[in-house]
Amino acid sequence: MVRFLRVVRPRLSLVAVLALLVAVPAAAWIAAGWAEAGARHALAERALGQMALYRANLTAGLQRHNAVPLVLAGDPAVRAVLEARRDPAAVEQLNRRLESISDGAGALAVYVLDRSGTTVAASNWEQETSFLGQNFAYRPYFREAIRGGVGHHFALGTTSGVPGYYIAFPVRDGEAARGAVVIKIGLEAVERAWAPGGGGTQADRAIVTDRHGIVFITSTPDWRFRSLALLSPDQRAMVEASQQYAGVVIRPLPITGGGVAAGELALGAPPVHYLVRSLPLPGTDWTLHVLSPLAPVYRQMLEVALSAALAAALLVLAGVFLVHRRRTLTRRREELEARVAERTAELSAAQGELIQAAKMAALGQMAAGVAHEVNNPLAAIRSYADNAVVLLERGKADSVRANLSEIAGLTERLARITRQLKVFSRKSSNALEPVNVATAVDHALALVEARRLGDGVELVWRHPAEPVWVRGEDVRLQQVLVNLFRNALDALRGAPEKRLEVRLESGGLTVRDTGAGIAPKHLGDLFEPFFTTKPAGEGLGLGLSISARIVQEFGGTLSAANHRQGGAVFTLTLNPAEPR
Ligand code: ADP
Repeated sequence: MVRFLRVVRPRLSLVAVLALLVAVPAAAWIAAGWAEAGARHALAERALGQMALYRANLTAGLQRHNAVPLVLAGDPAVRAVLEARRDPAAVEQLNRRLESISDGAGALAVYVLDRSGTTVAASNWEQETSFLGQNFAYRPYFREAIRGGVGHHFALGTTSGVPGYYIAFPVRDGEAARGAVVIKIGLEAVERAWAPGGGGTQADRAIVTDRHGIVFITSTPDWRFRSLALLSPDQRAMVEASQQYAGVVIRPLPITGGGVAAGELALGAPPVHYLVRSLPLPGTDWTLHVLSPLAPVYRQMLEVALSAALAAALLVLAGVFLVHRRRTLTRRREELEARVAERTAELSAAQGELIQAAKMAALGQMAAGVAHEVNNPLAAIRSYADNAVVLLERGKADSVRANLSEIAGLTERLARITRQLKVFSRKSSNALEPVNVATAVDHALALVEARRLGDGVELVWRHPAEPVWVRGEDVRLQQVLVNLFRNALDALRGAPEKRLEVRLESGGLTVRDTGAGIAPKHLGDLFEPFFTTKPAGEGLGLGLSISARIVQEFGGTLSAANHRQGGAVFTLTLNPAEPR
């Protein structure tokens, strides 16, 4: 990417870097916020669902055992051992019964307390840590039962040191309670059901706290008997007085941020962040809390933010790339245009030279024709002159005069030819001016006359009554015409009918011959430079291309076609001009 940015222009790369610096964090930030809100909401929803499940689990685990003390409280054998004078045999029998009931219910213990809170019968009667004879008057469950209610309590056993949940039912005697039947159950089954299902730190944690915020049921053993907040001295005194946790020192959980009230807390070092949902359990002073790790929320935030940042970066880079590409294309097109302009200039310079070269070549050919043309009059002059000398000696003055006037006529013709040659070889000025087309045709025809007559070609040329003026340049127009005439004469060589027709009409000037015409496949190529069908050494293939170029400079057109009755016809149109 760095390389890519380096090749773009400095200004563009600066803009790109700025855009990246703004767009990438902005996209990441917005996406993260959006993702966090969504993920938190989903997590909270799930936590509520979990909570209902945990609660149902807990209630089911506890209520399953309610029936045991309820039924025993009405049992005559229980009532019997609460009599003032009890039969030791009946006590032992009850002990055995309680033992088997406790085992059957999967309880930790089942026992009977008398009015003073002393244990008179117990399922663990044979064990070392037997409750028999122990007084539990201080236990809240006993106090509740003796008042006639149903006592519920969670505590660490003072005798056994084993934590358990106590349910106590009063043994009623009219209005008053004569004693209580208590079942102590372990909560391992509930805790086991709550234990994180292998999700490690990612899994939800469920805890139940008492009214002091002390955790006593938990799926995480390390958290047992630890408080959600530091206990006040009063709370501490109360906890100790109840002997509920049998002297276990209650330390607060290592909460490093937030709290239950805030709905979010961080635990331990390095801190693990949890979303907290709490639910007071009705009929108790307990609260169920579900702690859902926030790590997945953060991970999702991070993922979405990264994706958004990446997308933003890609968008910016794509934008930069497109702009860069467009600029490169524009620059390349400009370069191309410049090169085309340069080449065009070079070409037109070369063409100027070519025109001149072609002119000189034509001149050379013409010179041969002219020499031929000049030779005859010269030979005639010579013989007229020789004759005149003889006639002069014989004193035939009239004949001498006639000879001399013939000579004068012949020299006039020679002068005409050389005059036109001079005009032809002059380098053109390029300036456009009104040109008399008919005169230009006359001059051009004169230049090829010798050749035409020599080839026996008939000429049809109707001189218009009124001069036709066009915009152009005399010499170059003649050059175009000479080219057309010479091509026509070439085409007529060996033709059965040899005629050259020149017409000047409103549609333009047409030059038609009665030669073989132009092969249709060549019609499109005639005006290409160096296109020729003539044998090597005879045609350069430049005549028509130069002619077309000249006519184009005059603002006119030159086109080729085949005549209906055979032969080629070239049409030249030029812009009309004011007479000079
Ligand atoms: P060149 O005469 O040197 O060949 P031109 O550009 O003047 O070059 O002509 C190109 C070609 O056009 C000729 O070779 C010929 O094939 C064709 N052409 C031109 N004039 C005529 C014509 N009057 N009749 C038939 N073909 C012609």
